[in-house]
Amino acid sequence: MFGGACRDYRPKFVTKVGAMNENPHVVLDPRFRKLIFGHTKLEKLWTGARWAEGPAYLPAARHLIFSDIPNDRLMRFNESDNTVSVFMNGCGFQNGHTVDRQGRLIACEHGGRAVSRIEHDGTRTVLASHYQGKRLNSPNDVVAKADGSIWFTDPTYGIDTEYEGYTAESEIGASYVYRIDPDDGSVAAVVTDMFKPNGIAFSPDESLLYVADTGRSHDPSFAPVIRVYPVQPDGTTVDEGRLFATCDVGLFDGFRVDMAGHVWTSTGAGVSCYHPDGTLLGKVQVPEIVANVTFGGPRRNRLYIMGQTSLYSLFLNTQGPKYC
Ligand code: MG
Repeated sequence: MFGGACRDYRPKFVTKVGAMNENPHVVLDPRFRKLIFGHTKLEKLWTGARWAEGPAYLPAARHLIFSDIPNDRLMRFNESDNTVSVFMNGCGFQNGHTVDRQGRLIACEHGGRAVSRIEHDGTRTVLASHYQGKRLNSPNDVVAKADGSIWFTDPTYGIDTEYEGYTAESEIGASYVYRIDPDDGSVAAVVTDMFKPNGIAFSPDESLLYVADTGRSHDPSFAPVIRVYPVQPDGTTVDEGRLFATCDVGLFDGFRVDMAGHVWTSTGAGVSCYHPDGTLLGKVQVPEIVANVTFGGPRRNRLYIMGQTSLYSLFLNTQGPKYC
C-alpha cells in the first residue's frame, strides 16, 4: 500500500459480488491478444476490505491468502467453494506475501517491522527484522528465489501513519531492497538507489529483478516507475538498474511476471501488461485502484487482482510461476 497519490479511477463497471465485467480488456499491441481470452470476464469475488493487498496462492490448499492491512487481518479465498473468510486477525499489519519452494507462506509485517514465515506446523519464524543493527522500516513486498534466498522491499508506509502500522521514525533513514541469505540468515542491501521500493519480482530465469518505486506518494517529483536490475551471475547481488516502465495512471504497486516474462502490474486504473522489452501491451480495466496481483489456480492461469476494497480474478492465456 502507499499514500494517496493515486487517482480514483472509476469507470462504469458492475460492482456486485459475483458479477462479471463485460469487457475488461484494452488491447494496445496485437501481441496482447495471445495472452487473453476475448470472452473471459473480470469476476468480482469478494468485497469488504479497507485496503486489500499481498495476495499469495497456496497450491496444495487451493487457497488465496491476502491482506486487509488497515483492518490488521489476513483473509482467505477458498477456490473450491468461492468463499472468503478471515484467516488471521491481529496479524501484525501484514502487507505483501509470497510462497517459498517448500510451500510456506512468507509475510511482510508492517507492525512487526519484519519478514516472517509461517511454518508447516503453524508457528511463526522471523527471518529478518534488522539491518546493521537497526530496525527495518516496514517490509512491503517479497519474493522467494530458487536458491532459497528471500528478497524484499522496505519502504516506510507502515511507520508513516497509524492507519496500517505504528508510527515511528526510520532507524535506517533510507528505504532499500534486501536479500536474506538462505544459509546464514544474514540481511544484505541489494538495491539502494530507490526512494520507496515497493513491488518486487524476478524474471522467469531469475536473471532480472524488477522493483517498483512508489516514491511519488511522498514527493511528486518522483516518477512512478518499475526499474529492472540484472542479477549478477552468483545470484546474490544486482548490477546497476535501468528504467523498465513508467505508470500512466497512478502508481505501480505490486506485480508478478508470467512464465513468458510479461510483467502484469497493478496501476491506479487496473492491471497493465508489459512485454519483457518494456512495451505496454494492454490493460485489464478494474473499477478500483489495484494494489497487487498474483497467479493462482491449478494451472496458474488465473490472475488474482487486489482492488482497494475487493478481490477480483481473470483467466488468462498465460501461466504464472509455480511459486509467486
Ligand atoms: Mg506494495
